Amino acid sequence: MQEVSHKITELRAAITNHVTLVAVSKFHPVEAIQEAYSAGQRVFGESRADELVAKAHAMPTDTVWHFIGHVQTNKLRKIIPHTDVIESVDSERLLRLIDSEAERVGKCQRILLQVHVAAEETKTGFAPDELIEVASRCLPELKSVKVEGVMGMATNTDDETRIRSDFNAIAATSRRLQELIPEATVVSMGMSGDWPLAVECGATMVRIGSMIFGQRSY
Ligand SMILES: *Cc1c(COP(=O)(O)O)cnc(C)c1O
Repeated sequence: MQEVSHKITELRAAITNHVTLVAVSKFHPVEAIQEAYSAGQRVFGESRADELVAKAHAMPTDTVWHFIGHVQTNKLRKIIPHTDVIESVDSERLLRLIDSEAERVGKCQRILLQVHVAAEETKTGFAPDELIEVASRCLPELKSVKVEGVMGMATNTDDETRIRSDFNAIAATSRRLQELIPEATVVSMGMSGDWPLAVECGATMVRIGSMIFGQRSY
């Protein structure tokens, strides 16, 4: 487990100061999260509701949780009380459901809008134009949601040109969103395999899992 704190320290030194490191702890045990916490890491990413809630109960209250997976709407009630930022808002319906559920429990839910630019059909999110259209239409009506920026993923490929063009497209969508919402400055992109490129292309937040915690068993 020493390995985890070593990786955290190494990454912190390598990542520019203004970039937030989200340690993606999905499918890894609480002990691994505690090890990262001891090394000073506070922000963690999870992709399943039940897992996030169980881990949130086991960790100190100053642990910060980001939800990064596809949100099942029947799990929203579980997620919202424990989640600082829902990064993976990928439909207008979900956006409106989060707003009404957050309002019901008296919370302002911080969110990112997920943008889809990768080649894979399996990845979810708004197309760039759609994201801007939905944001401008819904914004005036949202009462309990704070849109803080965008989240996206590059195509899973070795082709650096393609990865770079995906990251540039996410960053361009962020600039368009900031014309509507100037404070929505978060650009969450970059994972274990491609985070240095993401930072070069303007990421303000990277989500790194396997590089810190090792391979997941799934
Ligand atoms: C799993 C996951 C990550 C982390 O991926 P690694 O390759 O393990 O760093 C980042 N973002 C999302 C949305 C994920 O699902």
